Amino acid sequence: MSYTALYRKFRPSEFDEVKGQDHIVTTLKNEIRTERIGHAYLFCGTRGTGKTTVAKILAKAVNCEHPVDGSPCGECEMCRKIGSQTSMNVIEMDAASNNSVDDIREIIDEVQYSPAEGKYKVYIIDEVHMLSAAAFNALLKTLEEPPSYVIFILATTEAHKIPITILSRCQRYDFKRISIDTISARLKDLMEREAVEVEDKALRYIAKVADGSMRDALSLLDQCIAFYLGEKLTYDKAIEVLGAVDTSVYSRMFNNMADLDVIGCMKLLDEIMISGRDLNQFITGLVWYLRNLMIIAVSAGGSEMVDASTEQLEQMRQESKKVDETGLIRYIRILSELSNQIKYATQKRVLTEVAFVKLCVPEMEKKTADDSLLARIDAIEKKLEKGIIVSGQTDIVANGQQGNAGGEDVSETKQPEIELPKMVSDDLKKINEKWQQILSGLSVSSRSFLTPDICKKTVSQDGEKLILQFTDATAEAYFNRYDKRNLDELKTVISNIVGVDAGIVAEAVSPEQNRNSLDLSQIIDKIHFDVQIKN
Ligand SMILES: [Zn+2]
Repeated sequence: MSYTALYRKFRPSEFDEVKGQDHIVTTLKNEIRTERIGHAYLFCGTRGTGKTTVAKILAKAVNCEHPVDGSPCGECEMCRKIGSQTSMNVIEMDAASNNSVDDIREIIDEVQYSPAEGKYKVYIIDEVHMLSAAAFNALLKTLEEPPSYVIFILATTEAHKIPITILSRCQRYDFKRISIDTISARLKDLMEREAVEVEDKALRYIAKVADGSMRDALSLLDQCIAFYLGEKLTYDKAIEVLGAVDTSVYSRMFNNMADLDVIGCMKLLDEIMISGRDLNQFITGLVWYLRNLMIIAVSAGGSEMVDASTEQLEQMRQESKKVDETGLIRYIRILSELSNQIKYATQKRVLTEVAFVKLCVPEMEKKTADDSLLARIDAIEKKLEKGIIVSGQTDIVANGQQGNAGGEDVSETKQPEIELPKMVSDDLKKINEKWQQILSGLSVSSRSFLTPDICKKTVSQDGEKLILQFTDATAEAYFNRYDKRNLDELKTVISNIVGVDAGIVAEAVSPEQNRNSLDLSQIIDKIHFDVQIKN
């Protein structure tokens, strides 16, 4: 017994069986009922939405001897002949392979002869946008004055490629993508008729993958059934057959990231490159995987929004516990940025490696993020100092860092180039005085990083904290890594020598920022001077 594909076997033979295109079906039925049949139709829409199917039903309906409410009866001679494709009245042409002017001329010659049986000759031209310009021109002449017994149905997935002269002579119908609900309901109905046991969830998954195309949905369902012939089709089986992407590589990468294993990430990237996989695609897939983890993490069930087998889902649930939501969002952010960057980049691999280093060494990224935040706070403080806020209405924060239109010259005195804190705490003054003593209390390595050539001591804007500015990233990392162990050593020494609990921040700056900032002792001198003038 030969097997008939589902989409052939269940191709609708009357209007009412056509799913998801109600607006079109209703209009066509009305036209037939009232005998106001057009001579040129244009059916547009993505693949598998029913264009050819509706065209064939229409061909049957206009030729039917006893149409019922605009639909073909399915029983008269014409209906049966057209149904079994033995009627000379329905001529199908695929413009993808017959696009020359000669192909069209052949049709035009034939159009001259009235039908030997039935009422209408129906020409269905599929993929009509593929016709050559000359072929379109030849067709246009016939479309302008068609014989009364001829109907043209032009079908296309790309309506924008049809010349306007043709468009203006056709009744246009836009076929919509079919909704997941409609497709899965149809699949369910057919499976009941076929007496195949199948999980609803499996059908929904198939409908989703089919992306609005009923024909694709039926072919996919066919594949699944053929693979598990005689067994119940479950969601897990459907996932397996339709090759939901193998997520193991994403899972491995995620685990490396979560373990902060830079080397593991690099090795896996290497593997991916060697296997010839596209880097863009890999990153996109990884972002999607992380999105799924996030959904699983934040929702109790979450499984509805994530297409994965039960086994995969359980594995992802475990994984989602390794990193909190903020962490996942950070991953997604960095990788999305990367995905934009590498689209047109030549050094895709290097950029990708940098991103993974950022992911695994949070301090590196945090530094840049903090930098930009500090830069913005700086900008706002500068505006406050310059009195831009005088107008009273301007919401400086909301205006962002650039929001200073016209406010620059409010203050009259010339401002110093570097903003000074209003005061420097006495503690910091003491630290400044006893700095040499403090240095000698430190370990050799700590001392080596605090030399003036790479480290400048400066003061936070509130005048409360000592800021160690490093132009050398290694030096900054030295004080900030390992839970700031080395920074704590410095604090202890200061506390022992000066008797104060000082707030200390180690930060890395560009050489330019470094040049533009003042040293602690310079600041103390300046402030002292200012205060004297004002009093
Ligand atoms: Zn009929």
